[in-house]
This record gives sequence, C-alpha cells and structure tokens, in this order.
Amino acid sequence: GSLRDGTHIDIGLNIGSCAEVEPIRYCDFIGLFRTEFLYMQTDRLPDEEAQFSAYRDVLQQADGKPVTIRTLDVGGDKTLPGLSLPKEENPFLGCRALRLCLRNRDLFLTQLRAILRASVYGKLWVMFPMVGSLDDLRAAKEALTEAMRMLDQRGISYDKAVKTGVMIEIPSVALMAADVAAECDFASVGTNDLCQYLHAADRMNPDVKSYYQSFSPAMFRALRMIFDAFIAAGKPVSVCGELAGNPDAAPVLAGLGLRKFSMNAGSVAGVKRALRRFSLTEAQALAGQVCNLGTEHAVKELLAGLQSS
Ligand code: PEP
Ligand code: MG
Repeated sequence: GSLRDGTHIDIGLNIGSCAEVEPIRYCDFIGLFRTEFLYMQTDRLPDEEAQFSAYRDVLQQADGKPVTIRTLDVGGDKTLPGLSLPKEENPFLGCRALRLCLRNRDLFLTQLRAILRASVYGKLWVMFPMVGSLDDLRAAKEALTEAMRMLDQRGISYDKAVKTGVMIEIPSVALMAADVAAECDFASVGTNDLCQYLHAADRMNPDVKSYYQSFSPAMFRALRMIFDAFIAAGKPVSVCGELAGNPDAAPVLAGLGLRKFSMNAGSVAGVKRALRRFSLTEAQALAGQVCNLGTEHAVKELLAGLQSS
C-alpha cells in the first residue's frame, strides 16, 4: 500500500488458522497469527509436534514474508476445552493470555519450543499478548530463553535472533511504551482490547457499546504516544486490531506515523484505496486535527465530512 505521494505503507494480514494464508500474495507480512484455534479443536492440549507442524506450514506458505505468531491468548471470552480455568468475577481483568501462560509454564514452554522450531522455515516474529508491565515482558522473554535452552539440549536448531515483540493493548503498557520499546524488537497495538480497557467498556456488552469508542480522541492520543515511542526507538510498530482495517481511520493512523497496518483479508482493498486518497502532509494535518478534538462524535463528523468532499 501507499499514500498518494508514494509514502510506503506495509499491509499485513491477520489470520486465525493455516487455511487463511493465501491472501498473503497481496500483503507484505502476517501481522497477527492467532494460535487459539489449535487449542480449541479437541479437549486435549495440542502437543509440541502438532503445533510445530501448524506453524511450519504457515511459514512455508508465507513466501518468505514475516509471520508474527502470537502466543496463546485465552481467558476472558475464550475458554479452553483442554484446560480447566477457575471461574472469575471479571474474566477480562483476570488471569488471561500471557498471565495464564506464565502460570501454566509447561503449556507456555511447549508452545514456545514449537514456535522456535518453526523459525528456521522463514521470518518468524514472536508476539506476547496482554503485556501489562516490564515485569510481564521480562518474564515472557525469560520463558523464551528457557525454551531455547531446552532445544539446545536436544540439539534442535532455531533462529537465535528471532524477533520478540509485545501487543500493546493494556493502557499501563501504552504509558510505558518508550521503556517497552527499549526491551523488545517490535510492538503491535491491539486496539480491540486497548479500546475496552481505556474506556472501561466491555467489548462484548451491547449495553455499553456507546462507551466503547474506538474513534475517541483518547484512543488517537494513546496511539500517538505509542507510535512516537517506537518510532523514536527505531523499532517497528503496527496496529493489528480492527481499527487498522477501518478505511475511515486509515489516513489518521498514517498521519500519526503508522506504517504497518494488519487486518483481515476482507479489509485490505478498502484500506489501500483509502490510503491512496491522502498525501502524507494531508494525513499529518488530519491526524493533528483529530487529536485536538474533544469527543468521538466530533472526530466522526470530521472524518465523514472528508468522505463527502
Ligand atoms: C486486539 O485486542 O485488538 C487484538 C488484535 O486481539 P484480540 O481481538 O484477539 O483480542
Ligand atoms: Mg486482544
């Protein structure tokens, strides 16, 4: 993809299984490979071999383009048939995703070994969901190092320089973006969860839909802060939440400095088209305007006005 003046934008693909890799032909990378499907299929947890072959398949089909594999993100709305989870009063604020993996170390190490083994088949980036602090990031990296040691002992090769990144979807870590950037290789913003945690509005609850404001000035200011930190550190940052696939948001995100958008295959054509309508200067001016507005309603009105002009 590109802006009207030729500014290059990488378009990424979000996938939820090996069967969805084909549209990579029109994209520059896989920005989010959700691995939950492997764990949902049976009531037994998938072993290292089953995971390894699934990850390898995706790497092999990706034409040498980078593949971002996200480690298991269950809990919250997603439960696991093979793992009994304690019932929680507030599951979205509970023991989900990375938190659950850090507590179930064998489950986590099994997945990390499978991911590492697949890394020799292409360009693999590992991404941790729901990182909330530097403690989380360090604990996740430590587990990855342990998985590497286990493979070393078995004499199995892997990419020792595999890129390690975080999803930014918890406000605490958005506020720490510069510190996080110093300790990882890349980030991807999960706007679906970031929006719910920023506005304290459950993404699944229709009664609070009007509070779940993905076009609020607060969202765009948070994004600006995250992008600025990663751009300053010279590390790649992408958005892989639904906002990246929204054509109305596209020029604003580009104007804020985003150069990597990852989305479902169905959104690619619309976002590419939306980006081509704006030069970098226009997108930057628009982003500045949006961040200075006071309400989501005002943002939406401004963007709707551009559609009709
Ligand atoms: C997100 O939170 O924006 C995201 C991409 O992850 P998921 O929708 O799987 O929580
Ligand atoms: Mg998420």
